[in-house]
Amino acid sequence: MYDLFRSDSAKEITLRPYQADAIEALRSAIREGKRRLVLCAGTGAGKTLTSGKLLQEADRKGSYSLFVVDRVALVDQTSAVFDEYGIQHGVVQGSHPRWAPRENVQVCSAQTLARRQLPRKPSLIVVDEAHCRHKGTIALMGENPDAVCIGLTATPFTKGMGNDWDSIVNVRSTRLLIEDGHLVEPTIYVARSPEDVELGLNSYGEFSDDSATSAGIKIIGDVVSEWERKVQEHFGGPVKTIVFSPTVEHGRELCAAFAAAGHNFQQISYMDRSDEERAERIAEFRRPDSVITGLVSCGVLTKGFDVPDCLVGISCKPYRKSLSSHMQEIGRVMRSAPGKDKALWLCHSGNVERFAGDMFDVWANGAGELDTAEKRDSKARERNQQTREAAVCPECSGAMRGPVCICCGWERPARSGIVSVDGELQAFDASKFTLTARDGLRAECLGDPRKVWDAIIAYCFDNARGDESKTRRWGYGIWRGIYPDAKLPRGWFDAARPALVDMSAYSLVDREVKRFRKRGRAA
Ligand SMILES: [Zn+2]
Repeated sequence: MYDLFRSDSAKEITLRPYQADAIEALRSAIREGKRRLVLCAGTGAGKTLTSGKLLQEADRKGSYSLFVVDRVALVDQTSAVFDEYGIQHGVVQGSHPRWAPRENVQVCSAQTLARRQLPRKPSLIVVDEAHCRHKGTIALMGENPDAVCIGLTATPFTKGMGNDWDSIVNVRSTRLLIEDGHLVEPTIYVARSPEDVELGLNSYGEFSDDSATSAGIKIIGDVVSEWERKVQEHFGGPVKTIVFSPTVEHGRELCAAFAAAGHNFQQISYMDRSDEERAERIAEFRRPDSVITGLVSCGVLTKGFDVPDCLVGISCKPYRKSLSSHMQEIGRVMRSAPGKDKALWLCHSGNVERFAGDMFDVWANGAGELDTAEKRDSKARERNQQTREAAVCPECSGAMRGPVCICCGWERPARSGIVSVDGELQAFDASKFTLTARDGLRAECLGDPRKVWDAIIAYCFDNARGDESKTRRWGYGIWRGIYPDAKLPRGWFDAARPALVDMSAYSLVDREVKRFRKRGRAA
């Protein structure tokens, strides 16, 4: 057995150029003495393959390496993937048929590790889905301080990850992977969702499953009709769909509603009678001509759920804090597949309104450094009129990316004259500049432009909708509305938020913003 596996699996892994760059970045960090590195890339970027290259190299040097998955169910799947890649390995788990203790590369689950003595000290530990922060894995890392540990994740946002890891290597951004055709960008629609006041919280400050279920069941009719309308519009009829449901009960109701409308939707969950039963259903769904149109997932958000030719995702499980859950879910429809040039995301959870800003930012710029990344899952996102206006296109209910709708291309009119500040900053020489306020504008504070700018900055931070630089650009727009001919003196643009603000200047700013908003609406 053992030799058979060995002989037919001596293939060389070929990496895409950006994956080779990631390996280089990891190597140089290791040379700097870093031992615990997160390899961060979106779903579909090939993190497993990239780390496989390192495992293969370690194998050639005769080093002992572990690839740790976070659930027992993923061991077989990973082992199959390694066979496909030509990575020689054994499996550490019970009386597994792939038990091969002499292999240098071993696949194991975090659960198994807790009960096993390893025959050798590992010099390389690859941790799959590192954001899960499995206790057994963290302990293993602690017991092997000299081992190089590589954590794979698309979403390094879990609180505490900063303690587990030294730094992040960000692989090519999701935005570029989309542009290169390695991933498919979903067309996102914001559909009807329960109001936040209908949702209760659990002890983690996350929306409770029970409340998401009772509030979600009320709008199931909308979920079915919205799906029928959108798949007709975009694909000419039903196509493979996955649904993220908060509970088994919700999933059951949903499947019944789809069945009543003539569509075969099936549920998979931890409540399934057996793993085999669940695996069979997934296998059927995986077939190109599957009799199952929709698979409803309740708490089974794993790689086992990966079906690249799935074209539509429906989000019914609301999150208040967990950006990573939202991003992992939407990542399920972004895998490329032959003939797939489009994917749809129908949001019935409010998650797009809560997380789109962060998501588009991570897609464009990567996760950033660990200490900031690990905060992205702990902040509660409030939903209100403002966030709704910022996130949803009034023309088609598509998701807005910045000022543009990703579905129909509608562009939001510039509010209060936001303009680019590039090249606008110049030295301020009071003797040459007379600051003249706009015609018809009267207020004592206008004679003291710094007072006005301080009030603008304070106002904009109080009402910020975007990041700091966006907030300051907004402020600059207001400034130019008040003093149409005056550039901002050097140094003011980045000035710290003032501790004291002139109240009459502050209310002047408020009036200006409202005036522009009204004019923007009328236009
Ligand atoms: Zn639109």
